[in-house]
Amino acid sequence: MPGQMAGGGCIFCNIARGEAPAHIVYEDDSVAVFLDIYPVEKGHLLVIPRSHYESVADAPPRVAARVFATAAALARLYREALGAPGVNVVANSGRPAGQEVFHFHVHVIPRWRGGGWRTLFMRHRLTEDEAREVLEMWRPLRGSIGEYVRGAFMPG
Ligand code: AMP
Ligand code: ZN
Repeated sequence: MPGQMAGGGCIFCNIARGEAPAHIVYEDDSVAVFLDIYPVEKGHLLVIPRSHYESVADAPPRVAARVFATAAALARLYREALGAPGVNVVANSGRPAGQEVFHFHVHVIPRWRGGGWRTLFMRHRLTEDEAREVLEMWRPLRGSIGEYVRGAFMPG
């Protein structure tokens, strides 16, 4: 597979395989969604493909579409079901763009307080209490994520 990292050294590949710890919100056969350990706001999620591509610019269209459809489902559910008044959906590609983990991922950041673009760089360390709260919040909505994504990939 192009871009595959040898030797299992990719932290997000390890999370996708269940070999590294993560707070998983949702997963299916092609993507996994888990909590960012340095959230901008409570509920900051990362969407990754199970297969390894360095960035959004390296992933094949079908993989990119699948990841972004999942991010769109999360953004919609944050607004419609969880009451977030705003959401940032962001993919950093390449070091100059601020990419730090070189396994394609999309950030989905609910904005409860506002502050816009400028405050995207203010982070805190995820606590266990916060993680539990976010997982609880998403538990009843897992089915809706799957439904949205399947709808996007139905033929016709
Ligand atoms: P980026 O700058 O787009 O490459 O962002 C990488 C993100 O991954 C950052 O927001 C980190 O806080 C997050 N991150 C790094 N390692 C982990 C991990 N083991 N579990 C969850 N999030 C992580
Ligand atoms: Zn990887």
